[in-house]
Amino acid sequence: MQSVPKVGIYCRLSIEDKNRNGDDSQSIQNQKAMLRNYCLERSWEIFDIYTDDGFSGIDRARPAFNRLLRDCEQNRIDIVLCKDQSRFSRDTVIIEQYLNDRFLEWGIRFIGVADNADTDNESYGTMRLFTSAYNEMYVKDISAKIRRTLSCKREQGQFIGSFAPYGYLIDPADRHHLIIDEETAPVVRMIFGLYVSGKGYRHIVQKLNSEAIVSPSAYKREQGSKYINRNADSSSARGLWTQSTIARMLANEMYTGTLVQGKSHHISYKNKRRKKVCPAEWIRIPNAHEAIIDADTWLRAQARLQSNTRVGTRMQTLSPLSGKIRCALCGRPMKRNVYYNKAKTIKYYGLQCAAYKSGAMNCPNTKTMSGKVLEQTILDALNSIVSQYCQTDEIRFTNIYEEQLRALEGSLAKRLEQHASAQKRLIQMYKDKLDGIIAEADYSLFRQNLSDEEQSLTLHIDELRQQIAEARGRMENAPGQKALIEQYAHFDALDRTVADEFIDFIEISMTNDCGEREIHIHWKI
Ligand SMILES: [Zn+2]
Repeated sequence: MQSVPKVGIYCRLSIEDKNRNGDDSQSIQNQKAMLRNYCLERSWEIFDIYTDDGFSGIDRARPAFNRLLRDCEQNRIDIVLCKDQSRFSRDTVIIEQYLNDRFLEWGIRFIGVADNADTDNESYGTMRLFTSAYNEMYVKDISAKIRRTLSCKREQGQFIGSFAPYGYLIDPADRHHLIIDEETAPVVRMIFGLYVSGKGYRHIVQKLNSEAIVSPSAYKREQGSKYINRNADSSSARGLWTQSTIARMLANEMYTGTLVQGKSHHISYKNKRRKKVCPAEWIRIPNAHEAIIDADTWLRAQARLQSNTRVGTRMQTLSPLSGKIRCALCGRPMKRNVYYNKAKTIKYYGLQCAAYKSGAMNCPNTKTMSGKVLEQTILDALNSIVSQYCQTDEIRFTNIYEEQLRALEGSLAKRLEQHASAQKRLIQMYKDKLDGIIAEADYSLFRQNLSDEEQSLTLHIDELRQQIAEARGRMENAPGQKALIEQYAHFDALDRTVADEFIDFIEISMTNDCGEREIHIHWKI
C-alpha cells in the first residue's frame, strides 16, 4: 500500500494581480481554498502552505518560494501543488531547472491545478515549455490587440470611456456617444460663467460647496458607477468640490462638443503605468456631441487660464519634483526659488537646501541647483532605464522563442529516430519470420504492436512539424512587437504623474571643486 503523499501548497499574488479591478479570483485566499480542497478530495496530507504576497513570478528572491525549494531538497515534500504553473514561476529558466530537472531527481511531483500541468503526466514534458512561453506571449499579444482596437474607435470619433465626463451621460442608445445630462450641465455652465467673470477657484469651490451641489465624484457614486478617483484627496473623497476639480473642468475641451481621447498610453504590457501623450497628439473630433459651453465662453476661459500660468499665481501648479528632493548632506528638503526673465514671460526655478532658506545656515550645501538641469538629468536617466528594460525584455522574448523551437526540434529528431527504428524492427521481424526464426502467431502479435507504435509516432511527428512552423512564424513577428513597445516607452517631459510613478526621492550633494555635483535618484522601480 502506498503511503499518503505530503503536499507543499504554494500561493503567490503579485502587485499587478491586486490592482486588477474587482477580480479577486487570483487572491491568496482563493488559491488556498482551491488547493486545500484539491488535497482534501484526494486525502493527501498538507505538509505546509507557502505564501508570497506581492511578488512577481519572475522574481527569484521570493522568501516563501525559496523555503519551499529547501523543503523539497530535504525530502520533506512529495508533491508541490499550485493553482497553475505561472504561480510557481514565470521564468522559463526556473521552470526548466526545477520542474524538468531537480524535481525529477528529488522524486517530487508538480501539479498546476488550473492548467492541468502534472509532471507525472507523460505529455507534460512537451507541453511545459509551451505553457511558460505562451503565458508571456499571450499577455503581450492581447494587450496590443486591445490597444489597436481602442485607437481605431477613437479615430472614428467614438467615445470609448467607461464613464462620461461630468455634465454628460453615455447615450443609452449608443454607448460610444455622449448626450447632455440636464441635471449637471447647468453646474458646468455656472462654473465657466463664474470663472470668465473674474472669480477665482477658491470662490467657485466655496460657492459650490455652500450650495451643497453634488461634486463629480459623489455624483458618479450616486449614479452607481464603479468610478474611483485615484487622485482623490480627502475633501473630494468626502464628496466636496476641490480647486483641482475646477481646474480640470475648465481645461476640458469635451465641453465644447469636441471629443478628445488618447491622452495617455500604456508603457508596456507588463505594467499598468500610463504615459501621458502631449496635447498635440491627442485625438480630437469636433462636433462629436452637443456642446455645453459655447465657443466664446470657452475661449475666454482658456485665455484666463493661460494668463494665470504666465503670472505664476500660486495655484495648484505643483512642480513635478516637489517634496521629493533632499539635501544629501543634512537631509533637509531642497526648497524651490522661482524667478523670471525680465519680460516676465519665462519662469525658472532653482533648488537650495532648506537650511540656507530657513536661516539656519549650518549646512555647507549652499549652491542653488537649476531645476531645468535637474529635470533633464532625471529624464535622461529614466529614458535609459526604460529603454534597457525594453531591450532585456526583447532578449528574453526572442530567447523564449528560440528555446521553444529548439525543444520542438529536439523532440522531432527523437521521434523520427524512434520511427526509423520501429520500421527497421518491422523489416527484421519479417525476415525472421521468412527464415523461420519466429512463429507466424508471434509475428502477427509483434507486428500489430509495432505498427500501432509506428502510427502513433507518425501522428506525433505531424503535430510537431506543425508546431515548429508556428514557432518559426512567431519568431518572425518578434521585431514588430519590439517597435510597438519602444513607441510607448519614451518620456519627453517630466510631469508630476511620471515623477510620482517612478521616483521615490532624490538626494543632491554639494558642488565639488570642479563645479560638479552628485544627484542620487532613488527609483521606485
Ligand atoms: Zn543641507
